[in-house]
Amino acid sequence: MSKQGVCILGSTGTIGVNTLDVINRHPEKYNVVALTANQADEKLFQQCIKFKPQYAVLVNEDAAQRLETKLRTADVNTEVLSGVESLERVAGLQAVDQVMAAIVGAAGLLPTIAAARAGKRILLANKEALVMSGDLFINEVTRHNAELLPIDSEHNAIFQCMPDKFELGLEQQGVNKILLTASGGPFRTRDINTLHKVTPEEAVAHPNWVMGQKISVDSATMMNKGLEVIEACWLFNTQPSMVQVVLHTQSIIHSMVSYTDGSVLAQMGNPDMRTPIAHAMAWPERMLSGVEPLDIFEVARLDFEKPDFVRFPCLAMAYDALNEGGTSTTILNAANEIAVDAFLNKKLSFTNISKVIEKTLENTTKVEADSLQTILQADSDARHVSSDWVNKLEFNL
Ligand code: NAD
Ligand code: MG
Repeated sequence: MSKQGVCILGSTGTIGVNTLDVINRHPEKYNVVALTANQADEKLFQQCIKFKPQYAVLVNEDAAQRLETKLRTADVNTEVLSGVESLERVAGLQAVDQVMAAIVGAAGLLPTIAAARAGKRILLANKEALVMSGDLFINEVTRHNAELLPIDSEHNAIFQCMPDKFELGLEQQGVNKILLTASGGPFRTRDINTLHKVTPEEAVAHPNWVMGQKISVDSATMMNKGLEVIEACWLFNTQPSMVQVVLHTQSIIHSMVSYTDGSVLAQMGNPDMRTPIAHAMAWPERMLSGVEPLDIFEVARLDFEKPDFVRFPCLAMAYDALNEGGTSTTILNAANEIAVDAFLNKKLSFTNISKVIEKTLENTTKVEADSLQTILQADSDARHVSSDWVNKLEFNL
């Protein structure tokens, strides 16, 4: 079989680096066609030396210029592009078969849609893109015969436990519940009265996973699980009531599917993103990922708890937004991005993250999410409203 051409959107991030680690183990199977990042020119330069892609994109123009100079000096003939449009261009290149969508946040939407429109296999890590555009995203995938495979560990696990024809409807295929596992993050048992004092350093220190800053904060507020409930409904064409969040502190079971005959199928493994990455890249085959085999005796026990919606209001807001539909989830996602960014920059307290989202949802108009333009407008409006609320809450206006 000829090599698969791969484009990695967000190659310098945690998921991007793990993807290159997997690719590096299978040089006979994959060819890196394009690598992209926002502004990390030195990291992208190192990746270009090693993987010699045809294209390298840096959104930031100055960073792209620096990369160009470094590559010419090193005699590597990767073509350097800049600007957001270049992300869309490389995602749709003829030589690309698979697109790893691993940009963080709404910035990943347009290039991922471009990959869908070009009929690629999309390896979806960038859950925010799906959360903000739902129906429209899925329609683009279907219309252009693209393939959508989940990288998020829970969704990849669910996909592995699903019946072959799940697209025909979960109930019809004998599924009665998706059990979406969550570690509960670093503050599951912390005194709730001290949560307002949480620092960004404490919030990004996840007990089981090493991840980018934004998703680490999302895990601490459990908005990550809220976004994942929404993601699961779109990926598996189902209702919020079919998705039960289960706290499972060891992060060994990555999610489960419960069937009407009483069977519950679970996917297990060490918490290492190279498993879902290798699974989705090789699907329907399997290949080595570099992940250590699970030592079940060392694990010894698995614990489960119900989630606490009072401690984690973001989780409840995500269910509500999903039930409300339209641009509600676009607004939820945008407000969360603004609030998390403000928190990481020490401009907002940890407990005010959920307040900013709540106030933004209360003070914006929801409409049908029927076009990309409507979605982008809702995203932009929500960002303005939530930025105002960051200031109001922080200065008690
Ligand atoms: P990260 O912060 O480590 O990396 C983000 C990447 O996106 C970087 O390459 C960065 O250059 C690029 N980027 C950032 N802003 C950009 C912009 N405005 N335009 C273009 N590129 C931009 O993040 P991560 O942890 O790798 O997560 C990436 C995505 O995968 C997120 O959506 C996250 O929710 C999802 N995800 C991550 C994990 C994980 O274990 N890290 C697990 C599941 C899902
Ligand atoms: Mg996840």
